[in-house]
Amino acid sequence: MTTTTQPATDSTTTTSTAAPLTAADRCDRCGAQAYVRATLPGGTDLLFCGHHGNAHRPSLLVAGASISDETDKLLVARESGFGG
Ligand SMILES: [Zn+2]
Repeated sequence: MTTTTQPATDSTTTTSTAAPLTAADRCDRCGAQAYVRATLPGGTDLLFCGHHGNAHRPSLLVAGASISDETDKLLVARESGFGG
């Protein structure tokens, strides 16, 4: 007799804490590094680079999205990156 041991109910908890954007997060429009996260009322996250974040911000706000703007990281990167 074979007894199949099935795993118990998967207890993966979905944490909805907004993690900071990383270099792995990419703009949905152009694929550049994302610095703006827009969370739509339905819970959908949209990621934008600084350019597209600014471009879409008005319509996103009209749609009721909450926007997390991390474009200040761009300034920090620019300050510390004196190459050029
Ligand atoms: Zn973009």
